[in-house]
Amino acid sequence: MAYRAPVDDMMFTMRQVAGLEEGIAAGHYADLADGAAEALLSEAAKFAENRLAPINRNGDQHGAKLADGHVTTSPGWREAYGQWIEGGWNAVTASPDHGGMGLPHLINAACTEMWNSANMAFALCPLLGFGAVDAVEAHASDALKKIYLDKMVSGEWTSTMNLTEPSAGSDLNALRTRAERHPDGSYRIFGSKIFITYGEHDMTDNIVHLVLARLPDAPAGTRGISLFLVPKFLVNADGSLGARNDVHCAGVEHKLGIHGSPTCTMVYGDKGGAIGWLVGQENKGLACMFTMMNSARLSVGLQGVALSERATQHALAYARERKQGRAPDSTTQGMDPIVHHPDVKRMLLTMRAMTDASRAICYATAGALDRSHRLTDAAAKKAAAERNALLTPVAKAFSTDIGNEVTSIGVQVHGGMGFVEETGAAQFMRDARIAGIYEGTNGIQAIDLVTRKLPLSGGQTVKDEIASIRESIEALRGSNAPALAEMAAPLGEAADALARATDYMLGALGAAPADALAGAAPYLRLFGIARGGSFLADIARAAHKSGESDPANAARIASARFFARNIAPGARGLELAVTEGASSVNVADAMIGA
Ligand SMILES: Cc1cc2nc3c(=O)[nH]c(=O)nc-3n(C[C@H](O)[C@H](O)[C@H](O)COP(=O)(O)OP(=O)(O)OC[C@H]3O[C@@H](n4cnc5c(N)ncnc54)[C@H](O)[C@@H]3O)c2cc1C
Repeated sequence: MAYRAPVDDMMFTMRQVAGLEEGIAAGHYADLADGAAEALLSEAAKFAENRLAPINRNGDQHGAKLADGHVTTSPGWREAYGQWIEGGWNAVTASPDHGGMGLPHLINAACTEMWNSANMAFALCPLLGFGAVDAVEAHASDALKKIYLDKMVSGEWTSTMNLTEPSAGSDLNALRTRAERHPDGSYRIFGSKIFITYGEHDMTDNIVHLVLARLPDAPAGTRGISLFLVPKFLVNADGSLGARNDVHCAGVEHKLGIHGSPTCTMVYGDKGGAIGWLVGQENKGLACMFTMMNSARLSVGLQGVALSERATQHALAYARERKQGRAPDSTTQGMDPIVHHPDVKRMLLTMRAMTDASRAICYATAGALDRSHRLTDAAAKKAAAERNALLTPVAKAFSTDIGNEVTSIGVQVHGGMGFVEETGAAQFMRDARIAGIYEGTNGIQAIDLVTRKLPLSGGQTVKDEIASIRESIEALRGSNAPALAEMAAPLGEAADALARATDYMLGALGAAPADALAGAAPYLRLFGIARGGSFLADIARAAHKSGESDPANAARIASARFFARNIAPGARGLELAVTEGASSVNVADAMIGA
């Protein structure tokens, strides 16, 4: 089943939940006016469908291979990467000062979804590059920007993010990679990093590594970490490539999924020290890295959406073809396509509705990010930045959890054929699995949401979000369309559950932090369900207005209605897990040997 980018649904979501129309009217999305957004997405769709999707399977089957310190990517990938740069796709959001198009994050969110639906292992390389550009642009010296940024923006040189070490994963306090000051103002880096995505490959001439390391006199813990830019090849004054730097790939992991993406062990300083330059200030490296990680967290959330979308398209096509049994309302003599069985319908609608909800959350997060950069009024800018901060962990963790569930349901829809590799459904499930783990595990995202984001502006940011959820639901109540009006009650109950769980969390944070942490994951899920359901309601209202005779609009309403009736009721159970479940978690140490 070929991938078809759902450009109309993407546009619809951008308009109804991410503020595209309002932004065009207000001027901060002037660059997306007059059909510019549709035109760009249509071009991106062609590249995703025709160039990236066809090499997805061979990336899975061949994988990236290491020999003599060199990594070879799968057949056709190097050429596709060349076309990626030529098309300008690496430079959508970057500043025009460095050759970028300077377009909004919202448009890049839709593009990111497409790249990852088509070929997640390929798309992961530029995904990290976007974050690296943000970090270098925000924190590096002008001299470093002059040498590196244009080529990082164009994609001529790719970038990596080097945090993880064997004893420093979620917790960077234990980070051991060393940096030493050199008299010429540069630094020498020594140590090993593991799990470095595209740490080595053959798609470009140079690779720019962003590396966290510790200076000899640095304070202990995360307050003593600095960020360094370490190129694979040093760069001469005229911009040409010079000597090979002392950084090497010592291994490539064998993984469950994303085989086309080389996950590398990187060794720095084996032969006297890798030459690096400081980005930002000494000992302030983690803050710089967070610039990169925040951008990457939303993008990883979009990977969840992307794989959900791809798996849903795939499962739908299979279910329309595969015939087994007779459906309850069958009028034919023989077997019916399985799409007519109520249980298969339930699976397919779950896939569609969960995908739509996670897309809405991710695009709304991107919209808030744009407003935080593009608005001029200081108070509105701050409110947008806080909304972005609140929604980012939900976008990352909810969408990637959904990605795992939806791709797994996709295998189920295929029956036994889902479990064998032939249909491709299994690859989506394997590829999706990592997205809940990297860029801060989903458990860490839930902790971030509860401990850092709920307290923003004294709890007002989350209260404003809940008020906005309620506004969407109130708009359903007066509707004369029964399908819309019927959603108000279950979505309203989900909003009430979120409001009560939020009050509980804000109280528990001060009084019983272990209880707040125990309930963080179900709380994040509850947040995603209440927010996602109300976004689908906004989409359904707009679809009703523009005419249910259009099958795409009828499908949007059906998706929202299914969500309200079948998924939103789970909110009450999640609320109880948050408000009543903590002691059963925290007193069970004997059971798990903690
Ligand atoms: C394919 C792949 C690509 C990657 N790419 C990169 C990359 O490019 N650059 C890079 O630097 N890293 C990369 N990583 C590393 C990735 O970010 C880490 O694996 C991830 O952050 C988790 O760290 P860990 O594996 O050490 O797990 P751990 O930190 O050991 O976590 C194990 C479990 O314990 C939980 N846990 C840990 N601490 C806490 C806590 N305080 N509270 C509650 N639960 C906790 C976690 O949620 C998890 O479930 C990659 C990993 C993979 C597999």
